[in-house]
Amino acid sequence: MTAHDAMLDDVAVYALGALPRDQARAVREHLAACPECMAEYRRLKPAVDAVAYSAEASPDAASGAVVPSPRLKVRIMDQIRGSATPPRISNVGEMRAVRPIVWPAYAVAAACLAVALVTTAFNISLNEAVSSSKAQIAQLDNQARLLHRKVAAQSTELADLTSTGSQHYTVENGEVVRHGNRLYIAMQSMGTPPRGKVYQAWIMRKGGKEMTPSVTFMPDRSGVAVVHVPAQASQVVEVAVSMEPEGGSKQPTSKPAFLVKLT
Ligand SMILES: [Zn+2]
Repeated sequence: MTAHDAMLDDVAVYALGALPRDQARAVREHLAACPECMAEYRRLKPAVDAVAYSAEASPDAASGAVVPSPRLKVRIMDQIRGSATPPRISNVGEMRAVRPIVWPAYAVAAACLAVALVTTAFNISLNEAVSSSKAQIAQLDNQARLLHRKVAAQSTELADLTSTGSQHYTVENGEVVRHGNRLYIAMQSMGTPPRGKVYQAWIMRKGGKEMTPSVTFMPDRSGVAVVHVPAQASQVVEVAVSMEPEGGSKQPTSKPAFLVKLT
């Protein structure tokens, strides 16, 4: 090991600020004269600063994520200093003989640096996981809200459909139900339309001359369909359902499955 190689070890410890003052001065002087050691110093310094920065920054108290303790850098330094062994006799050269053997310190420093960097990376990914979980919770919350609204609407439907105050108009395979100003089509055993086809509701308004298009719908697997027809029920005098292409038609293109007058 040449004096210059040994100096490279010192440069690493110097970059960490863990070198005793006398050796630090020697390193500074050497750095000024040796481009290679200077290059090594410039390579290490940003990593050391990054660790110091990440260890001192604790940006995300809101997320509850664990961030590196501000004491981390101090602990790293303590470990480096603690592992420095006393000088030992060497015949490699004058400089090597008088300086403490610092390579174990460098090894510890490198390990600490790696751990600190991994910890920082881990905390970044932890923060990401926390935000991702928050997004998922928000999404579930939204779904729960929609579900709640749907259940509320279904309760209204159910109440309307079973209310003794409702008017029921029997049609093939089901009925049309009017409750106050709300109108429903409730089917019990509808055939599944072929691919590309749906059922479509049609209504005739009071004083109207032709059927106007309303909602399209599909029965479930058991052939059940309960459809709220968006119209002022008191203004509707006829209801029909026909099979139409997906997306619905402006005028019926097939013979209605049923047509019922609401009297
Ligand atoms: Zn050098």
